[in-house]
Amino acid sequence: MKVVEVVLQPVGPVSLPHLQSIAGELENRLPAKVEARVAVWPLPLNYSKHFDWKRMQIKAPEVNTAIKEAYEGYVKPGDRVVVGVVAGDGYVSGLNFVFGLATPDLGVATVYTWRLSDSDASRFLSRLLKEVMHELGHLLGLSHCVNPKCVMSFSNSVADVDSKDAWLCPACRVKLEGRG
Ligand SMILES: [Zn+2]
Ligand SMILES: [Zn+2]
Repeated sequence: MKVVEVVLQPVGPVSLPHLQSIAGELENRLPAKVEARVAVWPLPLNYSKHFDWKRMQIKAPEVNTAIKEAYEGYVKPGDRVVVGVVAGDGYVSGLNFVFGLATPDLGVATVYTWRLSDSDASRFLSRLLKEVMHELGHLLGLSHCVNPKCVMSFSNSVADVDSKDAWLCPACRVKLEGRG
């Protein structure tokens, strides 16, 4: 089975111990052979390019492009991918917000912490793990799943995130195992 290299890249002030813990979980929870590492140096946001001052939100597609540029020469879509964990609230045109955004053609995804945050650190960490798994699933070729418990189900709200499991359903596992 092909090894997938994943880098978790903090964008802005994100807890490195949280990312380390998520990196360890990814290796156990995905049927692909995953090697996950954490980049210790946070990428800064470019406010004039990545921030929408009217909405006070971060332009998710632009951040994905910036990560791709920062990782030029490393990223290889499907084999070596980067998941940015962004301190803030992201959106894409046409949606009020996104928990995350995957751009499989770039081999880059981002997850936005703002709406996942909670006074209970373990709940926040569980939500973050689910959303990182979800976007990574997209980078590995999975689409949304109709099983509401599956981590690949689409979440409209943080309640949806809480009610799904931090696991792939059997159907999605089979799809991931079957990839090249
Ligand atoms: Zn999705
Ligand atoms: Zn599924």
